[in-house]
Formats: sequence, structure tokens, C-alpha cells
Amino acid sequence: MALSEAGTGDLNARVVIVGAGHAGGSAAAFLRQYGHVGPIVLIGEEPLLPYQRPPLSKAWLKGEADADSLQLKPSSWYEEAGVSLRLGGVVVSINRGAKTVSLASGETLPYDYLILATGARARALPIPGADLSGVLSLRTAADAEALKAALGPGKRLAVIGGGYVGLEAAASARALGGHVMIIEREPRVLARVACETLSTFFQDYHGARGVAFELDAGVAGFEGENGHVTGVRFTDGRVVACDVALVGVGAIPNEELARDAGLECANGVVVDIEARTADPFVFAIGDLTHRPLPIYGRQFRLESVPNALEQAKQAASAIAGKAMPPHEIPWFWSDQYDLKLQIAGLPFDADRQVVRGDVAAAKFAVFHLKGDLVQAVEAVNAPPEFMAGKQLIAKRTPVSIEKLADPTISMKEVAA
Ligand code: FAD
Repeated sequence: MALSEAGTGDLNARVVIVGAGHAGGSAAAFLRQYGHVGPIVLIGEEPLLPYQRPPLSKAWLKGEADADSLQLKPSSWYEEAGVSLRLGGVVVSINRGAKTVSLASGETLPYDYLILATGARARALPIPGADLSGVLSLRTAADAEALKAALGPGKRLAVIGGGYVGLEAAASARALGGHVMIIEREPRVLARVACETLSTFFQDYHGARGVAFELDAGVAGFEGENGHVTGVRFTDGRVVACDVALVGVGAIPNEELARDAGLECANGVVVDIEARTADPFVFAIGDLTHRPLPIYGRQFRLESVPNALEQAKQAASAIAGKAMPPHEIPWFWSDQYDLKLQIAGLPFDADRQVVRGDVAAAKFAVFHLKGDLVQAVEAVNAPPEFMAGKQLIAKRTPVSIEKLADPTISMKEVAA
């Protein structure tokens, strides 16, 4: 019987979760929290218990975090909660008719409900030299460990891609006394994910702390000696020397398993607003999904911890027959140096920007508006603007542009 027909969940159902990352690990925890008593099997390719990825580009590189400190739950929790772990297990196929998953080990496991949480993987650069040692990506704890080992005083890091992961790794490398060059194809960093004001601000901030930039730059390949990277070759022929290169050019969803099982994929597994696929017994959550964004009337793939948690809650609620949690406004954060960037919403259809605060003092927020409605806010060291902005987006409260632009008027008054 389909969940939608049942109206309530089945607390005794056998749940198999594929992917033991932030979304998969959280789904197991929420299921138990919501009173699910049936068997839960959590299968993860990595040899580690579910852990937080955000510190990989931050605290981990600086030696301030490790696999143990980043665990979502201690190992004792899985035993106590009766969550059966298959770490190092790779699911290779799903048989939706028989309601089973098959592992690379040859094992086949039955499910009543399946939660797909296979996340995303770092996009590779298909250019000469990309297979040299020292050309790294940053997605897993093992990746972070490899990068950390290559950083240190005087070490030269070339970062290909000026996105959040690249900028965060650059800040960490500088904190460790290394030299950093960020190489970006677009004319500005964060081009896909932030407004121009923010790009300029972050570039200047990094520049003032010794990071070099090559913008509008094409990378033709990596140079190497004895199998190890020694430099990055630009399309114009120039070569910049490096001891290690980090390729941070985005992530692609691990959707092959779902696609092979006949589930609709479009840059991620297509789900509805409650993390359901078209199969009533299969949910998909986290970075893997292409999901609706209610306020914006669009389908989008989000890569953030809050999204992983929101969809983990949704799948667990549906299976355990609990009321759906309220929908959340997408949000994200990034830490670089002493900067805390917090972003709420997405600037779809925005027709104007309002900067509130002092960019030069590194304490400001950029509001993106559609008419007098806030669509998104990007806040640097400005938690009140972030919090209030998130509320304004959720409640669709019209704002006075004049008041919003005036930091002497409290955000409370702007909202009123
Ligand atoms: P993942 O955490 O990627 O987990 C998926 C798991 O599934 C992986 O362990 C994978 O090995 C496993 N898997 C894949 N295929 C199979 C298979 N066939 N069988 C078994 N297992 C499989 N977000 C923020 O909000 N703020 C931040 O500051 C931030 N910083 C980040 C920094 C870095 C370096 C990275 C990499 C990500 C960052 N993110 C940040 C994003 C955030 O970590 C992700 O959104 C989140 O981890 C998504 O969780 P997930 O469970 O969907 O995917």
C-alpha cells in the first residue's frame, strides 16, 4: 500500500538507507526519534560513521577536527538504537519490483521503504595531468587528510575554482603559512553562487591576506615530475608552480543508482516537496535531490546541511507517520578567516539589491528583492540581518527599501 493511501506510516517497516552521510545518518536518527521500531539498515561506501563535511575545508585542514570529533552520533548510539551499519558497503543496484538492494559484496537486502542519500561527488577536470599525485579534490575525510598533509608553511597551493570550498581551503592554507593562488574561469570568484558585491568583498579580503588570483583564466593541464604535480598550465601557455593543486569546480549528484532503477533524474533525483520520488516506497534526500522550492516556484538542487536535515526529517516523518515538519527557507553558511557568511533564500527573479551596513568594516548584508519582497539575503558578520531576512523571506512580508538600507533602523522595524 502506498504511503499516500495509508495516510499514516508503518513503525515496524524495514527501512534501508543508502548513503551514510549527513542526510542518511540523520534520517536514521530521526526515524528512531519519531518512534520507528522496525529494522533500519544504513549502508555507506565510506569506512566512517556518518560525519559532518563542512569542517573538512575549515577546522580539519588546520588540525582542529578529525573523524571522531565530526561524527554525527558516537558508535555506541547505532548499537543502542538498533541501527545496523554496513560501512564500506556499496549498493550497486535497486530492484524496485522485488523491493531489494544489492551490494557489491553480493549481498541482497530487502526493504519496505528505501531512502536514497548517496549525495554528490567532486566534479573532476578532464585535462592532462589530472591524475598526477598532488592533484586533489575535497569531498571526504580521506580527501581532507590528503590535502592537510600537503599544506604547511611555505607550501604552494593552487586552487582551481573560486567557489566556497576553494575559498575556505585557501583561508585554511593561509592560516597554516602556505602560499595560495586561486584560479577561476569566470571574471569573479563565487560567480555562480553569490552577487557581485560579495564576490568583490571576498576577493579583496583574501587578497589582503596574501592570496593571489588568476581570474578569467583557462586551465589547460597540470605539469608534473616523477608522477607528482609541479604546476598548473594555463590555456595561454603560462605555468604557475605549485606543490599541491585542489580542484574545487563543483559537485555532481550520485544519481546513477536511482536512474538505473528507473527513477526520474534531472541533475539529481526528482522528488516532491516531501522528499518522495514517484515510487511511494522510495525517498531521496540531501545533495542527491532535485527538489521543489515552494516560495520560488522552481525545482533546484541544493548542497547544504540544512537541506539534508530538512529532507531527512521529511522522509523519516512520512515513514513513521508523523506530521510533516514545516517547510524551511533554504540557507547556507561559509566560514573564512574571521568572517561568517550566512545566506538565506535564493535570489531568483530579484530586480534590485539593497546593501545594508558597512562593507569596508566586513559587517554588512546584501538583500535581494523582487519589488518589495525579500527573495534572499547574504549576510557577512551580520546575524541579525540574516535571521530577520530569513523571516521576511518566509513570511513574504513587504519591506520599506529606505528603512532596509538604513542600518540605524532596526531590522524589527524594517519587518514591521
Ligand atoms: P554526503 O554527505 O555526500 O553523503 C553521501 C554518502 O553516500 C557518502 O558517504 C557516499 O560515499 C555515500 N554513497 C554514495 N553512493 C553510494 C552507494 N552506491 N552505496 C553506498 N554509499 C554510497 N554545507 C553547508 O551547509 N555549509 C558549509 O559550510 C558546507 N561546507 C562544505 C565543505 C565541504 C568541503 C564539502 C564537501 C561540503 C560542504 N557543505 C556545506 C555541503 C554539505 O556537507 C552537504 O550538503 C552534505 O554533506 C550533504 O549530505 P548528503 O548526505 O546528502 O551527502
